[in-house]
This record gives sequence, C-alpha cells and structure tokens, in this order.
Amino acid sequence: MPIRRPEPIAVRRNRRPKPKPETDALGFGRFFTDHMFMMDYEDSRGWHDPRIVPYGPIELDPAAKVLHYGQMTFEGMKAYRSPSGGIRLFRPDMNLKRLSRSNVRLGIPPIDEELVSEAIRRLVLLDRDWLPAAPGTSLYIRPFILAVEPLLGVSPSREYRLIMIMTPVGSYYEKGGDPVSIRIETEYVRAVRGGLGGAKTAGNYAASLKAQEEAASRGFAQVLWLDGVHRKYIEEVGSMNVFFRIGEKVVTPALSGSILDGVTRDSVLRLLNHWGIGTEERRIAIDEVAAACRNGTMAEAFGTGTAAVVSPIGELDWDGERLLVGNPGEAGPLTRRLYDELTGIQTGRAPDPFGWTVALDGSEEPAKPGRD
Ligand SMILES: *Cc1c(COP(=O)(O)O)cnc(C)c1O
Repeated sequence: MPIRRPEPIAVRRNRRPKPKPETDALGFGRFFTDHMFMMDYEDSRGWHDPRIVPYGPIELDPAAKVLHYGQMTFEGMKAYRSPSGGIRLFRPDMNLKRLSRSNVRLGIPPIDEELVSEAIRRLVLLDRDWLPAAPGTSLYIRPFILAVEPLLGVSPSREYRLIMIMTPVGSYYEKGGDPVSIRIETEYVRAVRGGLGGAKTAGNYAASLKAQEEAASRGFAQVLWLDGVHRKYIEEVGSMNVFFRIGEKVVTPALSGSILDGVTRDSVLRLLNHWGIGTEERRIAIDEVAAACRNGTMAEAFGTGTAAVVSPIGELDWDGERLLVGNPGEAGPLTRRLYDELTGIQTGRAPDPFGWTVALDGSEEPAKPGRD
C-alpha cells in the first residue's frame, strides 16, 4: 500500500448541544458528549471518510457480522484537566498500539494510529467543555470497531466502522475508594491462553457477566479470575489487572496471553521499579495467595485499570474461607502512594518523569449553543 497522508477529518457540528449534567450525577458512562467520531473501512478502499458528527444512534444492517459473531475491538482512555485548565491524555500511544494488536487477534485490519490520534485530539477539543473540573473527574474516551458487513457467513468481515464516543466520569473513585471484598471464582473462566483474553473485545466481558452477577448477589465487588486450564493461577480481578504485595516484593501475573496488557499495569510496574521496589511478573498460584493471607505476609492487594486507576482489595473469599489482606478497612501505603502518584501525573499536579502525558492544544472552538 502506498504511504499517503491521512484524509482530513470532516466536522459537522451539533446544533443542539445538550445541557451538561451536574458533577455529582456523573457516575461512569451514563452521559455522552455532543459529538462522536466515525470512519469506515472497505477492503477496496481501506479506512476512509473520517468525520466528527453529532452524537446519536447509528444505523446498522441486522445482518452486520458484529451482531452475530462478536467481531469487534475497543479501547478505553481518559482525558484529564490540569490545574492550569489544560487538557492531558495519559499514554494514548499505548492504547492505540493495543487497539491494533486486538485487531490482529480478531482478524480486523489495523488502524492508522496517527489518524485516530488526531481524531482523539479534535474530538476532545471540540467537546472540551464536557471535561469536568472537580478533583477525581475526567473524560473517558471509548473508541471501538465493529464488523458491519451484512453477511451471515462465518469469516472476517470485509467492512468495518470505527466509532469514538466520550463520557464524563465522576469522582466516585476518588482516593482510590475503600478496600473491597473479592470472590475467587472457581466455576467460570473468562479466557484461556490462545483465546481472546489478551485482546480488548466484547466477548471477554460477555464471558464474565454471569460470574460478576453471582458475586455481586453475594455482596462481593468483583471476582478474581483463575486460569482456565489448571484453575490454579491468578489472572485478573474483574476487568482490572491485579497486584499483591507479599512481604517486600510486589508480584503480578505475567502476560501469558490470557490476560490484558494494561496501560495502568505497565505504569505501576515502571513506577515501582523507579522507586526501587522489587517487582516480579510471574505465575502466582492461588495457594500462594491464600498462604500469604493466612500467615500475615499479604500486606496489600489492588487492581489496576484506567477506570479506577488503583483499587484496593480488602479481603478474598475462597469457597467460603475469608482471606484477609493487610489492615482491614484501609488501603495500604503503597496502594495509596501509587494512586496519588499516578493521578498526580495524569492531571499534571505531579512532575511527569517518564513523559507519559500528552498536552492537547489547538484552535478547535468548543461547541456552543446556536453555532453551526
Ligand atoms: C481494559 C482492561 C484492563 C485495564 O487496562 P488499562 O489499560 O490499565 O485500562 C484490564 N483487564 C481487562 C480485561 C481490560 O479489558
């Protein structure tokens, strides 16, 4: 394929911007901004027609492959407001690379990362007034790719649509939240090596819903997934990567192909190494976790992900046995330090020694009522 300059992004402004919700009502993923980005793919044309349009329902042929075979990928990242009012993204290149990797696994053509990166910049700047200012709030950006070819044959689609929507996120998770109780899942599995676990795709979530619902009905916040083959090694917690501080070492499951390569996971490992704290990426048997809880060496445990950043785990339930982590009822010191440091870097409150943040600037005028 010849290298060509990306097509310019067409913009059709929303003439009827919505009122912004109150910060207290935000929650996660309940309100959407005034615009969305879209572009299309056909085998013969590649990705084309990049455009920003008013947010709204999309039309999809009922035979679109995604609706029958789940061929899709997605990403999740956030824009943050800095103390001086600027807007920052956190390691967006990692999300775009991961989207391309997920695409490869799902048989979807790669994206033009430069073009999607420009689309993020334009969309965030256009809807910048939707980025809340209160501490702990952010604007969540959700790009996703759907197989839209109307054909019920089981084969990779020859047509796709990339859509990107944005939702303001409240400060629900501020301070990393209180430690939660987690149920160790011994019946269901979410992914196996060789399957889709390393890709960000809807099917992994579909596989997790029943277990999550059963755990929630028993009062647990999330499930801790074990590997699908031996039912023995730790994988992830809910849809977050998981870390344990056992004694003076911090351990997390190695990327084996069945868990997601989290941007927050990578950032936590880099920070810990920077601080001189020993880390290990390896297989962690549930028996090792249980033994450490029983003998009092399980000092801290936490999940990591873009949504909650760092989320402390207070106890684990293993077939009815309560396994306690650290000091009951409070997040451990390292969990808190990681949360503060990461959110500090993300919002520009703390120095960014790794060059992780990308400041957005540009002349894009925010959407205002009455403009076209
Ligand atoms: C998105 C996701 C994560 C967290 O990844 P981040 O890049 O840190 O947000 C972890 N596990 C699963 C299954 C995910 O989908």
